[in-house]
Amino acid sequence: MTTVTMQVMTMGPGRLGPLTDVLVIGAGPAALAIAADLAERGLAITALAAGDPHTPWVNTYGIWCEEVDSLGLGSLLSHRWSDTVSYFGPGGNAPGGSAPGDNGLLQHGRAYGLFDKAALQSHGLDRCAAAAVRWQQGQAASWQQQDQAFVVTTTAGQQHRARLVLDASGHQSVFVHRRQDGPVAGQAAYGIVGRFSAPPISPGQFVFMDYRSDHLSEEERRQPPTFLYAMDLGDGRFFVEETSLALAPAVPFPLLRQRLLARLAHRGVRVEAIEHEEFCLFPMNPPLPDLNQPVVGFGGAAGMVHPASGFMVGSVLRRSPGLAAAIASAFNDPNPAPAAVAAAAWGALWPAEMRWKHGFYRFGLEKLMRFDEARLRHHFASFFSLPPQQWYGFLTNTLSPAQVLQAMAQLFALAPGDVRWGLMNLQGREPALMARLLTGG
Ligand SMILES: Cc1cc2nc3c(=O)[nH]c(=O)nc-3n(C[C@H](O)[C@H](O)[C@H](O)COP(=O)(O)OP(=O)(O)OC[C@H]3O[C@@H](n4cnc5c(N)ncnc54)[C@H](O)[C@@H]3O)c2cc1C
Repeated sequence: MTTVTMQVMTMGPGRLGPLTDVLVIGAGPAALAIAADLAERGLAITALAAGDPHTPWVNTYGIWCEEVDSLGLGSLLSHRWSDTVSYFGPGGNAPGGSAPGDNGLLQHGRAYGLFDKAALQSHGLDRCAAAAVRWQQGQAASWQQQDQAFVVTTTAGQQHRARLVLDASGHQSVFVHRRQDGPVAGQAAYGIVGRFSAPPISPGQFVFMDYRSDHLSEEERRQPPTFLYAMDLGDGRFFVEETSLALAPAVPFPLLRQRLLARLAHRGVRVEAIEHEEFCLFPMNPPLPDLNQPVVGFGGAAGMVHPASGFMVGSVLRRSPGLAAAIASAFNDPNPAPAAVAAAAWGALWPAEMRWKHGFYRFGLEKLMRFDEARLRHHFASFFSLPPQQWYGFLTNTLSPAQVLQAMAQLFALAPGDVRWGLMNLQGREPALMARLLTGG
């Protein structure tokens, strides 16, 4: 891995920077990918980062290996596991060859990987440097349109001019806005990278979802379900994380921590050394941004988290070149109106079929959040009994709408009665979400 050095500039307050084609806001996975892809297409790119863009990322990013390998980026993984399992506890449906056995163990038969986050970040920064992205440091605070350009002002009063503003400032986007349609559910997780008195999971294994709840009291089992996501990192180090798929309001960290420690204690495992604690919280099912707004979003800012799985890094890497191509092509017009460039970008990011799938996943998550613990286990046991290309395609958002419907019809056919009833019985805001799906609203 090579790291190209680059200068990060900070302008004085009140100074107006030169006109650039695109001002990208942020320095996370989304910002680095889109800034590099745009610059590689010959556009003049300035990236505005709240801090030093070299500040190491802290999030633990996992991904199915096929997704990262298909992009030719497999070398950015620090770990790969071929022994990938989930536990959905006793009582799960048992159709098909990969169905859970009596202890609820299900073999996924598909490799999972962990990004080397330093390598992923360097990869993005190096591409930016090689394609001459100019970095500015400052916190974007407001924007206005002046003639055919945007002027973004930072909290320190610096001003940056661009023909297009691309907001990649994360889930709490600084500029991109969306309509409100009810509470937004958060995926919350508390994790520990460390050493333990005994292996918390089988050596060499990756556990995607361990929904076993034999360590909980009857009363605790009536509370929102949580699961263990865990990795053997080698050399006696493990990453264990107690996770709530989604809930509004999100499950609090102290409860997740308590659940994690209780789960470990039940298996006779003590935490001996903590290297890193992860406090994970991000929105799972925000509505799509308003696609008519003049500032374009990417990544968390554009609602790209998969509402049914929480994955996003793979789709950012996969979809960034297409968005960059659409923006570059809109700029080919000799005198493009800013609104036309923004419309082309939003259209490339959220075409009709992606919007439909997003609505479908939101509807699905709404259902899952109503499922009690037993029904959730039955649901996932059925879901992961689907043919691998179906569940993998669903989780990575790579199926067509017709394939999504086909997978769901198959899931319905496989699922036990309690899950079928849960899928049919519309409650809360499910009818409204369903109506929007049917009418395309
Ligand atoms: C702990 C955690 C673990 C996750 N694990 C996974 C995973 O395993 N797999 C997966 O696919 N997804 C995962 N996600 C979900 C998602 O992929 C991440 O949240 C991802 O970091 C989002 O990328 P982003 O670039 O959109 O935003 P961020 O990574 O949040 O980056 C936003 C950037 O914008 C900057 N910024 C913010 N405001 C301003 C401003 N006003 N001006 C200038 N700069 C600004 C920030 O400093 C930052 O550099 C995880 C999320 C979390 C929180």
